[in-house]
Amino acid sequence: MGKEEKKAISPTREEDYSEWYQQVVKASDMAERSPVRGCMVIKPWGYSLWENIVRELDDMFKEVGVKNAYFPLFIPLSFLEKEASHVEGFAKECAVVTHHRLEKNADGRLVPAGPLTEPLVVRPTSETIIGDAFSKWVSSYRDLPLLINQWVNVVRWEMRTRIFLRTSEFLWQEGHAAHATEKEAMERTRLMLDIYARLAEEYLALPVTKGRKTAAERFPGAVETFCIEAMMQDRKALQVGTSHFLGQNFAKASEIKFQSFEEKEEYAWTVSWGASTRMIGGIIMMHGDDDGVILPPRVASSHVVFIPIYRSPDDKPKVMEYIQKIAMELKSSFYCDRKIRVEIDDRDTGGARGWEWIKKGIPLRVEVGPRDMSQDSVYVARRDKPHREKISMKRDFFVKEITNILDEIQNNLYEKAVSFKEKNTLQVDGGKAFYEFFTPLNKEQPEIHGGFALSHWCGTGECEAKIKEDLSVTVRCIPLEQEKEKGKCVCCGRPSSGRVVFAKAY
Ligand SMILES: [Zn+2]
Repeated sequence: MGKEEKKAISPTREEDYSEWYQQVVKASDMAERSPVRGCMVIKPWGYSLWENIVRELDDMFKEVGVKNAYFPLFIPLSFLEKEASHVEGFAKECAVVTHHRLEKNADGRLVPAGPLTEPLVVRPTSETIIGDAFSKWVSSYRDLPLLINQWVNVVRWEMRTRIFLRTSEFLWQEGHAAHATEKEAMERTRLMLDIYARLAEEYLALPVTKGRKTAAERFPGAVETFCIEAMMQDRKALQVGTSHFLGQNFAKASEIKFQSFEEKEEYAWTVSWGASTRMIGGIIMMHGDDDGVILPPRVASSHVVFIPIYRSPDDKPKVMEYIQKIAMELKSSFYCDRKIRVEIDDRDTGGARGWEWIKKGIPLRVEVGPRDMSQDSVYVARRDKPHREKISMKRDFFVKEITNILDEIQNNLYEKAVSFKEKNTLQVDGGKAFYEFFTPLNKEQPEIHGGFALSHWCGTGECEAKIKEDLSVTVRCIPLEQEKEKGKCVCCGRPSSGRVVFAKAY
């Protein structure tokens, strides 16, 4: 002891959180920048994490009657224009296809040719193209509700990008529902929000605050946007998922009409909801440490890696046979209704292997050598514990206990995140205290500040804009679960009827 343990990631979170994040993404081998501006390559370790998130969320959607479908990547410009505030909201981020052919010019270089009569927008979201389909699929109240989801990529031309958190192209799901009544549509909006909260808390181990967005932060074209907000380790907010009550705005734009039970023609009430690969960024930023990622077991790319340890090459076959047997047993058992995911790392790279898996964040590392074999044991290390803390276990005990150990890690990550969020969420009253709360804690890292401020706000766009201008702090949400309380706006001092969550955000 005494001597500081060397950390695998440089800089550490304390030294430079933002650079730490980039280095962790690299060290974990989850993704990398691509030659295409603002677009990422998701590598197998990152993609399998995504696949596991997709499976869980997809199952939850199907449980509540949502069915998957697929719609075109391209949206005719005229479709996007149908809803005025929608097109205005996305105009600056649209990638547009204007030609359909390449031709050689006089210099022998390929240039776009064959201009399109109507430009096509690469979908930034699909309300308008799906709305067009819905208008054909819906004619009677008997066709409702219509509950559709698609798992796709979307493109939003971002000026500043960061892997997983903000990229020009990303993967997501977008759910779209049409209902006969306002009440049902609102219930759907809230139900999907609850599903996101369940995914975040029970699977990603991210505690979230559920709330509604202010008018300024709403989805373009929505009547009401609901969101879940998580806190990252730099105390900034990350919006993990959103669910939008669209009223009849998009139904009117796309002519989604139906004959009611009373045989009157009515517009449907629509809803949309989305969550993306930025959830992976949230997992890294909340659970990572100075040695890399720590993956929550329920969605982890893999659960356990076996690392054979032997001095003489003659021992390798025996050790491998022993490991293969345990791996076979584990692979046919289940953790949270999913097969246990097992890796075997038999590369001859010595101690470096262990560190690689630490950086990748696999929940369990199991070393096996001739001595462990002779005692019918394995040597187990948990990613959520100090690396030197390895425990020898009887092999049968380990096989029997692995699901409990994984659950312990899952709960441990969640509890840690909960106490961090609670510790850094404070009721802040009065302008002076509010401005102080968002003052950087440390000059080297001007981004890091107090956390989530639960403060009074008068509800005007002016105060919201001033706070954003002064501090880059926004109203993350108006929490759904909170008591009514009278107070004074932290910006103007006028009366307020309740607290909202203010924070810096990704
Ligand atoms: Zn005010």
